[in-house]
Amino acid sequence: MQLAERMARLGTETAFEVLAKARILEAKGRDVIHLEIGEPDFETPSHIIEAGKQALSSGYTHYGPSPGLSEVRDRIAQEVAITRGISVTGDNVVVTPGAKPIMFFAMLALVDEGDEVLYPNPGFPIYESMIKFVGGVPVPMKLLASRDFNVDVGEVADQITSRTKLMVLNSPNNPCGSVIERAELEALAELAQKHDIIVLSDEIYRRFLYEGEHYSVSSFPGMSDRTIILDGFSKTYAMTGWRIGYGVMPVELVEPISRLCTNSVSCTAGFTQIASLQALDGPQDEAQMIVAEFKKRRDIIVEGLNQISGIKSAMPKGAFYVFPNIDGTGMTSREFADRLLEDYGVAALAGESFGEHGMGCIRFSFANSVENIERAIERIDKFVATAV
Ligand code: PMP
Repeated sequence: MQLAERMARLGTETAFEVLAKARILEAKGRDVIHLEIGEPDFETPSHIIEAGKQALSSGYTHYGPSPGLSEVRDRIAQEVAITRGISVTGDNVVVTPGAKPIMFFAMLALVDEGDEVLYPNPGFPIYESMIKFVGGVPVPMKLLASRDFNVDVGEVADQITSRTKLMVLNSPNNPCGSVIERAELEALAELAQKHDIIVLSDEIYRRFLYEGEHYSVSSFPGMSDRTIILDGFSKTYAMTGWRIGYGVMPVELVEPISRLCTNSVSCTAGFTQIASLQALDGPQDEAQMIVAEFKKRRDIIVEGLNQISGIKSAMPKGAFYVFPNIDGTGMTSREFADRLLEDYGVAALAGESFGEHGMGCIRFSFANSVENIERAIERIDKFVATAV
């Protein structure tokens, strides 16, 4: 069958492919430690599950408004207003099945053929995929290990042209775990204002911060008029499978993005939205416990990896990934990831899955138990010792 030409421009998220490969090995009886997929290994807190069940019993089983239920939009706006110190209402919010559609819809709504989009590289692979798919030109903002995976604002300034339409920021960053410091964020905000660039600020890992404070680019004066905040419930409340996220954006974007919802998903499931109210209003102790547990795991995995010769890992400040450089092992990152899974049963992702500037690195998710992380470290140590 002849696919449409545009399909050649659509990338993918390797995590799902590696997960499928790992499952095949498991079906053959192999023991695989999963450090590839980006989701908390905890159950959704029980009060949220109860709220979802009750919502199902009380009739939240029908179509709803495309931008989301008004009480949910209002409550999300209240949360975002407080946490970012900005003035927004429910009229600024679009609720979507997971936060991911906000990326796609924002680009479909804003990026014309030939428009340039700045995005982090290494970065979440869907940014580059979506930019290309909608006909935009991806302009990588390099995050290099030598700069602790921080954005080089001077370099970004040089990359801006009259065609630069959108800048994607992701702090804390997947896969690097780096966090954009306040001064850099402010400088990026100034660039956005000076050159009339819209910012898509992916803040899905906002709560997964182990050091310092989180700043949103939307908080700087004038920036909430040109920022789309992407956030959701998947990571913070271990709700990846519920599919609920949201965008908070200038009001003029709400109608076009809602129209994209109408044309694609229609709306987000009502019972999921009602459950998300309970996530925001209910006790936060489990969400906080997850972060505290991840901090412990971060320290264990970084220390373990750095003891292996040929591997060098920075200490991530946020998110739940480490992105060590493995050049010293003499292997390419692709070879390393493939052999580690096939021969030693540890699933991880090659750095180039996050863009060309990720080459030479491996992403390990530490959303797995301490016991499994320690078992994985032993296997990686053995693998590198025999491979070198
Ligand atoms: N942004 C980033 C950087 C992510 O890593 C992910 C999930 N892996 C998402 C957005 C999407 O989240 P959701 O599951 O809510 O669609």
